[in-house]
Amino acid sequence: MADNSPTRINSAQLTPAAAMSKPTNTKHIRKLLTAAAAVLALPNYQAMQREHNAEKHCARCHASFTDNTNGSTACAIPHVFTTSGSYRSGPYIECYPSKCCGNSVELEEDGPGNCDYINLDRLGLCYDGYHTEDVEEVKGDREGRYNCVNIWPCKIVDEECVREVLDADDEPILHD
Ligand SMILES: [Zn+2]
Ligand SMILES: [Zn+2]
Ligand SMILES: [Zn+2]
Repeated sequence: MADNSPTRINSAQLTPAAAMSKPTNTKHIRKLLTAAAAVLALPNYQAMQREHNAEKHCARCHASFTDNTNGSTACAIPHVFTTSGSYRSGPYIECYPSKCCGNSVELEEDGPGNCDYINLDRLGLCYDGYHTEDVEEVKGDREGRYNCVNIWPCKIVDEECVREVLDADDEPILHD
């Protein structure tokens, strides 16, 4: 016994009564919301700017950075080489395998001990990516995770990290 009579539908119940009958109320509410948004936007914006310019500490390379100076190649960590594992290749070339990446990366010196490295431009970086404050992120990375060779966890002394920042632009780093 379906009753399709149009008198069953009450249009007043289907439409929000306030919106229909009191347009001035809606206007007033909208005004209040706009005012509230403006008040909220100012400190939010300032907080965002503060966050953007805040000095942060990289959990991977230990350099200071801000969101403004961070980028896809900002965190650059050079390979580190071993002197104890070096070997002679031919009469003049001394090869120093990397401690971080093994024999796949070797520093070549033209004349043992004279620091005349001949393949610097082909060595590349051990890690090249974004700085991060997140220790867990570094731990979980496939590349550039802590290896205690050239990528170390922070060493905090008096609430500050004293870990050395390895500079990729410096001379190659050789350890025993
Ligand atoms: Zn390496
Ligand atoms: Zn970094
Ligand atoms: Zn650190």
